[in-house]
Amino acid sequence: MSIITSDYHIHTALCGHASGEPQDYARHAVDIGLLEIGFSDHAPLFSHKDATITMDHSQLPIYHHMVESLRAEFADQLLIRLGIEADYMPGYEDRTKSMLSAYPYDYVIGSVHFLEKWGFDDPIQLKEWDNHDVNNVYREYYRLLRKSALSRMFDILGHVDLVKKFDFRPTEDMQAEIEENARVFKKTGVVIEINTSGLRKPAKEIYPSQEHLKLYCEKGIPITFGSDSHRPEDVGRDFDKGREWAMAAGYKEYVLFEKRNIVKTVRL
Ligand code: ZN
Ligand code: FE
Ligand code: FE
Repeated sequence: MSIITSDYHIHTALCGHASGEPQDYARHAVDIGLLEIGFSDHAPLFSHKDATITMDHSQLPIYHHMVESLRAEFADQLLIRLGIEADYMPGYEDRTKSMLSAYPYDYVIGSVHFLEKWGFDDPIQLKEWDNHDVNNVYREYYRLLRKSALSRMFDILGHVDLVKKFDFRPTEDMQAEIEENARVFKKTGVVIEINTSGLRKPAKEIYPSQEHLKLYCEKGIPITFGSDSHRPEDVGRDFDKGREWAMAAGYKEYVLFEKRNIVKTVRL
């Protein structure tokens, strides 16, 4: 059986809620047989500052220097890509765009973690779910996801049903939303990720769900794989399940990036 050999969603301690040294992440990747990893730490926000959620603007040069020197250190063992995970927040597109153009990224993961100022996936803001209608939260999340694709700022959309993280589930049918997502993702050419971190969360399910993934596969939306690790030992975690998940939805291959272009397709 073949294995997935690239993990494109890895954080560092700079974001304020991940642990370990970058070397430990790379070493774990080598230990479990990965050939390629990409760091994708949380880019600074323009809406507000929170040192426990993202890097600060002043840390960006440190992040880049860190990944560059790690790349040299592991040159003969592991291909290390320079990525970043940036939030999509309506109204901040121009500033986000110029931040992302300042460095030679191999790929940019675009993620929706906020509805207005509410970090709906933040455990500290969990109580806020009580003040919202779950169906509306889902619809608003999917709307922002489509807007993030349409902004064309991102190469990969992160965890495209993150809204299920705490296992609040919609009672209304969201099929039309997902079909619309698939249509927009296809139109914009954006890639989505199989993100295994959902298995470690209350939802206990890979992002995105199997039903969604089938629709995305039918439309021909390419995929990457990411563990969303915030600890070295989570690098590549559950990639065997991730591979099965993708194949069950009909996928036959995944893609790899360099300098913000798809440079390789790998068979599953
Ligand atoms: Zn994080
Ligand atoms: Fe994320
Ligand atoms: Fe992440």
